[in-house]
Amino acid sequence: MARPTAAIIHLDNIAYNFKVAQGLTPSGDCIAVVKANAYGHGAVEVASHLAPIAACFAVCSCEEAAQLRLAGIEHPILLLEGGFAEDDLLFASEQGCWLTLADMSQVKRLSRAQLPKPVRVFIKVDTGMHRMGIPPACLDDVIQRLLDMSHVQGEPVLMTHYACADEPQHPTMLQQLNLLETLQEKTSLAVSAANSATILTGRARAERWSRPGIMLYGSDPLIETNEHARRLRPAMSLVSEVIGIRDIAVGESVGYGATWTAARASRIATVAVGYADGYPRAAASGTPVFIDGHVCPLAGRVSMDMISVDVTDCPSAGVGSHVELWGENISVDTVAQFAGTIAYELLARMPMRAPRLYRCASNASLP
Ligand SMILES: *Cc1c(COP(=O)(O)O)cnc(C)c1O
Repeated sequence: MARPTAAIIHLDNIAYNFKVAQGLTPSGDCIAVVKANAYGHGAVEVASHLAPIAACFAVCSCEEAAQLRLAGIEHPILLLEGGFAEDDLLFASEQGCWLTLADMSQVKRLSRAQLPKPVRVFIKVDTGMHRMGIPPACLDDVIQRLLDMSHVQGEPVLMTHYACADEPQHPTMLQQLNLLETLQEKTSLAVSAANSATILTGRARAERWSRPGIMLYGSDPLIETNEHARRLRPAMSLVSEVIGIRDIAVGESVGYGATWTAARASRIATVAVGYADGYPRAAASGTPVFIDGHVCPLAGRVSMDMISVDVTDCPSAGVGSHVELWGENISVDTVAQFAGTIAYELLARMPMRAPRLYRCASNASLP
């Protein structure tokens, strides 16, 4: 009776990927980034599964942190965008969240706040991305002000974020690395800088708190993949079934806008998945779809609830055939490429209509 469309979440693969991150950051701890509902995988389920091995979690807002606290997660939770208003600071203080200070306005807000318990602070410095972060020239002053605040706990952590970590030789990346090193030498503070791409390219070896996100979910953020990225295991399989099949003649078209036309007599399978299930509407004809053990090309536009696939070369495909849109056989990165986007967007935008089914079957230990 149930529609066969689902996002199967492989929790053990997420734990495996987390251990890959840990292995590449031997001197520090990894903060598992579970913002945006753990990139669509379910923040509570992912955090609960990682709780025994992760030191800390990171989210974007107090609302996301509250969801983890309600589920019984007691780890420190880093608020990556800081507090948006005074009551966020109160929440952070009461709930044991770590606060990012990413703008001078946030430093000012913290200095005026009255908090029941001291909060731990990460000072995000703008080392060159120019999105958020306090200017490097203000760092000394900010550190001094924080040391004078009785509601700040211990030494702050020196945090930054890279614009081009996916291209390790990019001049902006090299500039940011250099500036961070200078600031670290000057302040002697513990550092938190690495995202997945930085970790996978081996540049997080010396830092205290790395922040892996997308790699936990099995997607490779690097422009040029490497041996570490190739070890990652897919965390989500978006699956469905063939619900209709038809033969069409040469010259007949398929789907909205009649954008795909048969160049030969063709067999078309219709699959119960569409953009309302998270499969991107922008996916071009030719995007690979795994049907009954074969890779077959998407034919025509993605509808809200369905897609059409050319199964002419997969004669065994029929109504009820199993379909994987992405997962073990076709990576979410490949589908993202065919849709002109990145896996981050496909995963983070996964709608609730695709039910999440949680599995922890495979072996999570490192070889
Ligand atoms: C989202 C985020 C991360 C994780 O980045 P990935 O590329 O997904 O590993 C790390 N740090 C900050 C500040 C973030 O916002």
